[in-house]
Amino acid sequence: MSTRAPHPTVLAVANQKGGVAKTTSVASIGAALAELGQSVLLVDLDPQACLTFSLGIDPEDLEISVHHVLTKGIGAAEVILETDDGVDLLPATIELARAEADLLTRTGREHVIRGVIEDLTASDGKAYDWILLDCPPSLGVLTVAALTAADGVLVPLQCETLSHRGVGQLLDTVHDVRRFTNRDLVVWGVLPTLYDGRTNHARAVLDTISDTYDLEVVEPPIPKTIKFAEAPAAGRSILATSRSSKGAQAYREVAGNLMARAAR
Ligand code: ADP
Ligand code: MG
Repeated sequence: MSTRAPHPTVLAVANQKGGVAKTTSVASIGAALAELGQSVLLVDLDPQACLTFSLGIDPEDLEISVHHVLTKGIGAAEVILETDDGVDLLPATIELARAEADLLTRTGREHVIRGVIEDLTASDGKAYDWILLDCPPSLGVLTVAALTAADGVLVPLQCETLSHRGVGQLLDTVHDVRRFTNRDLVVWGVLPTLYDGRTNHARAVLDTISDTYDLEVVEPPIPKTIKFAEAPAAGRSILATSRSSKGAQAYREVAGNLMARAAR
């Protein structure tokens, strides 16, 4: 009898706008899920490799990375690293910038990440409860491949005027992915980040966005705090560098809500 966990919940964290806390959310939610006893794999899909760096790994020290897994047929298990935050990481390097071009001429490129996850799940390696995909700030091949591999998509959003202009475009891409490559993709909702609760403005913008696009809001909003600036340099997420800060607490609550969502 198999003792393997059921298929992992694959969540893409996507927004083509940079600086909305995609990477911070992946690192923090990942660490929070690990605190809750979940087995977690984080996948860095951004050639800037900020997630890799923020988890204490210098991309320049890596000989193989996610780029080799996506374009050269190397098994993910050979590349995955353990981190001090209790999560595993499929790291990126700047070489990933070439993957986008390499994949463009490849038949079935939209399915490349889904294939990697299926191979990993079928192998005798570690079974994951969660796989979080940290998407690059574009709607290119890698983001589409991430959405094709995902059960759900979480959209971090900075609640300031006009910051939601790109949401419609992202949802168009989600719609295309549903139509052509992954009919089961579900938008889990927007996650308000860099949230300044002192202004009514942030809440008003958030309400407008969720009404306009008929999106759920994943609670609670992540407060804007200087603590987040210190975490990446320490090579740990904010859950370790600032254990009891409001930001760390908010991400723990979000992780708990995502677990409840995955179970329903
Ligand atoms: P993205 O991956 O969407 O480009 P990042 O996660 O890299 O965004 O975050 C962009 C910047 O904002 C980083 O310098 C990060 O430390 C900072 N940041 C993220 N979340 C917060 C927050 N809640 N409060 C303050 N700064 C934050
Ligand atoms: Mg990022």
